[in-house]
Amino acid sequence: MLILISDAFAPDLPEKLSPYGDVTDDKGKLPEATVVLVRSKTKVTREYIDSAPNLKLVIRGGVGLDNIDLNYAAEKGIAVHNTAAASSIAVSELAFTLMIALPNHVTKADNTMHAGQWAKKELRRTELYKKTLGIVGLGRIGTELAKRAAAFGMNVVAYDPFVESSEVATMKPELKDVLNNSDYVSLHLPLNEETKGIINAEMLNEFKDGAYLINTGRGKTIVEEDVVEALKSGKLAGFGNDVWYSDPPENTPFIDAPNVIMLPHLGASTKENLLRIGDIIESIIRDFVSTD
Ligand code: NAD
Repeated sequence: MLILISDAFAPDLPEKLSPYGDVTDDKGKLPEATVVLVRSKTKVTREYIDSAPNLKLVIRGGVGLDNIDLNYAAEKGIAVHNTAAASSIAVSELAFTLMIALPNHVTKADNTMHAGQWAKKELRRTELYKKTLGIVGLGRIGTELAKRAAAFGMNVVAYDPFVESSEVATMKPELKDVLNNSDYVSLHLPLNEETKGIINAEMLNEFKDGAYLINTGRGKTIVEEDVVEALKSGKLAGFGNDVWYSDPPENTPFIDAPNVIMLPHLGASTKENLLRIGDIIESIIRDFVSTD
């Protein structure tokens, strides 16, 4: 059995998987592979699947399955798994990092110091304490973020049509109820037909003036040009972003927009998370081998 590691995983993964078959990172060997491991970079499209006649199992290290043609995989009898539970701590810590970095002007302060400037008077910080965080999509990652916000004395509200009640957030019946009331809005949505472009000009009008937006979910859940307009008009005080229309983004309009912190899709990329993902992948392959 050939296991193809197509994207970046923990360095010890090939050794961990070696008892179950031959392990390669040579993408040219796709036609021989029985198992393929991907993160978000490899797109498992219809064409990709058609060029892998021996493929039986695709494992997505991470959460979102939007880079995999699930219907076609099912049609071809290919099992698809993800490692959904592994990344919640890593991503929620990164969303929280952005929520601290924006109102404390961490990147601006650092840039001015590196440029030999002393911007003490210009840079006015605000506190998270007693502010309201609105979480859109209260799943695993949103829930971990809510716990961290509570520890900072924040009030947490959330919108998620599939969650009736929560111990960590006050649920609101409509998205706009969250946007109207939040000083910070953090997106933790899967990408699908309902969520694509959900944060658009109309919804941005519902935000409190001077709110902050954070997206560590999926890039296409926002309309980038509309967010840029909201930043330019001051409707949004800042935007922290980890996720893009493509990795890396092409001609992102955020390059010239004010008060933006941009990250290169780092949400899942902690050392600890990659080890957790590796452990879950091993257990999926162990089960696959034992039932095959
Ligand atoms: P999850 O499935 O546990 O949570 C997603 C939540 O969104 C669910 O509770 C669901 O009910 C809710 N939801 C679905 N449609 C909605 C809608 N229209 N409006 C409001 N809520 C809706 O997933 P998770 O583990 O919390 O991950 C959330 C997202 O984070 C993933 O889908 C993935 O796209 C993204 N992610 C990003 C990174 C990164 O590197 N930045 C890493 C992992 C995951």
